[in-house]
Parts: sequence; C-alpha cells; structure tokens
Amino acid sequence: MDEKGKSPGFPYIAEHIFAPIYPVIAAHIVKESGINQGICLDLGCGIASLGIAVAELTDMQVYGVDFSTEMCRLSKDKANRHFLSCKVVPLQADVHLLPFRDNAAALIVSRGSVFFWKDLPVAFREISRVLAPGGQAWIGGGFGTKELKAQISEQMVEIDPDWHTASKKRLSPETIRAIREAGERTEIPCHVVKDDSGFWVVLSKEK
Ligand code: SAM
Repeated sequence: MDEKGKSPGFPYIAEHIFAPIYPVIAAHIVKESGINQGICLDLGCGIASLGIAVAELTDMQVYGVDFSTEMCRLSKDKANRHFLSCKVVPLQADVHLLPFRDNAAALIVSRGSVFFWKDLPVAFREISRVLAPGGQAWIGGGFGTKELKAQISEQMVEIDPDWHTASKKRLSPETIRAIREAGERTEIPCHVVKDDSGFWVVLSKEK
C-alpha cells in the first residue's frame, strides 16, 4: 500500500517486487532454447522487464510489444536507464495483430500476459506466423523458482490479500487447457512446461 492506502499498480510491482524473477526466467529460456541471436519479441511486455533481461544476456534485438501507451512509455524509460535504448525498442501493438513480417522472430517470450488475451487461437496464430524457422516461443507465466515464488507471494499478500485467489484463478485447469489447446492448434510442435519456473506453452518451429 502507498501512503494513501492505495494498492500500487503493475509498473511498481514489476520494478520493486517482481524484479528478481526476470533475469532468472530469461536465463532459463535462453538456456533451454539455445537461442541468443536475431530478433526477440516480448509480448505484453509491461515495462519490458523480461525483454531487457533477455537483451542483457544475449546479442538479440528485442521489441517490447504492449497495447498500452503507458507501458510503452515506461518500457522506453526503463530501457534508457539500462543503457539499452538501441537493443530494446517498445512497440505499441496488440498481440492479435502483430506488426511483423512472417518468420521474423527467432525468440518470442511472454510472461503474465496470455491470461488477458481475448482470442487465444488468433493470438497464437499470429505468434506462429511471425516465429522464424528454428525459433521458439515461450508463452505463459511464473516466478522463475519455487523460492522466488514464495518470497514474492509473501510480499504480494501484504499489498493484496486476494493475491492467492487471483493467482489460482489465473492458473485454473480450464485456463491452462485453453492456452495449451491454442498452442496445439497452431500445428507447430508444441509442449507444455509446468515446473518451478512456471507454466509455459513452448512452440518450436521446425527449420
Ligand atoms: N510481461 C510483463 C511482466 O511480466 O512484467 C507484464 C505483465 S502484465 C500482468 C500484462 C501486460 O499485458 C500488460 O502490460 C498489458 O497491457 C499487456 N496486454 C494484455 N493484453 C494485451 C494484448 N492483447 N496485446 C498487447 N499487450 C497486452
């Protein structure tokens, strides 16, 4: 809570509470995918925390895509503060209509945004269209490790007593099934990772 008793918004939470998870998630995805060059899209990037973590670890050119003007502005500020304004570029767009050519992105990451997408099959079709042959898309959510999840949950409950209920709702079996099915419908080889790192639908486009 701030001094007026108001809950802080997502940009504050990403910057001050979730901050340690992004380098861990980025390292996990880069290691598992083996991809560290080319174009990376961070879809529903918020303040581009994950995209910035990918840029810090790799030679990739990152586009932080979010449909919110405010998030794009904050992404730009954050990339500047990390001296990454050339490597991390915000782009205001909707995941259901991505302004990229076919086969453009070697790596697509998206954390904590898929739960808000209005039409999962359309968004996943767009992701499969822009994913390059040999590329991977990691779409889902999580906190990187069991320890980080516990630490963050403790902090989040203090500012939002409904945190656990909302998290359970976001990760309900129906939601997970709908996301997985949207991934499978793309006809790109798809597998689900559900472990301490989080829940991810991983699309791997063949070369
Ligand atoms: N990925 C960030 C992170 O983990 O810190 C932000 C997660 S935040 C909970 C969800 C973000 O998804 C918001 O910034 C929201 O504006 C964005 N978003 C939701 N639906 C979207 C859509 N259809 N197209 C683009 N961005 C979207």
